[in-house]
Amino acid sequence: MMGPPGAGKGTQAKFVAEHFKIPAISTGDIFRANVSAGTELGVEAKRYMDAGDYVPDEITNRMVRNRIDEPDAEPGFLLDGYPRTLAQVEELDGMIKFTGHALDAAVVLTVDSDEIVSRLVQRAELEGRTDDTEDVVRRRQEVYAEQTEPLIDVYRQRGILVEVDGMGEVEEVTDRIFDALDVIPES
Ligand code: ADP
Repeated sequence: MMGPPGAGKGTQAKFVAEHFKIPAISTGDIFRANVSAGTELGVEAKRYMDAGDYVPDEITNRMVRNRIDEPDAEPGFLLDGYPRTLAQVEELDGMIKFTGHALDAAVVLTVDSDEIVSRLVQRAELEGRTDDTEDVVRRRQEVYAEQTEPLIDVYRQRGILVEVDGMGEVEEVTDRIFDALDVIPES
């Protein structure tokens, strides 16, 4: 599940994962859980998150590798917010090879940037996220454009890109995702 910060990845990922009875693995959520618990990983990750930067690939890759090794991910899994860099794409390919799975789809949610800013401001109030201040939001959008947008072409070339309009009501977007995913053959 891809898309700029505030596109609604996490919200939609939960519905999609529920439908396919697989875990939704959110790197952002795992980082935040580690920050709250004060783990070594959390202390390290927080520095980058609060600045709006990506956590280094090595740390993120190791965390995802460990997570998809868990028994609940054996039937399959949905990744929310990973991969976000070309290096993570390569690493994920390597990880998946050993699970016997293949990537079925890369869903990208498209939204306009004005909508994103208002969503993030709202979310900051609701959840008290320390990385949702205006400057940091802008930085996260830049980082997404620089480091993650190029991944869209990679998955388009592989023929697994599913672009979905992320604007509108949550349920509308979910319906669009389900419609779009139905055309993806099972592997
Ligand atoms: P958003 O997509 O709104 O930025 P996330 O909850 O997905 O929010 O991620 C929050 C932060 O966690 C990111 O800004 C980044 O610092 C870190 N993060 C999450 N996923 C990754 C990843 N795949 N690679 C590097 N950093 C990540």
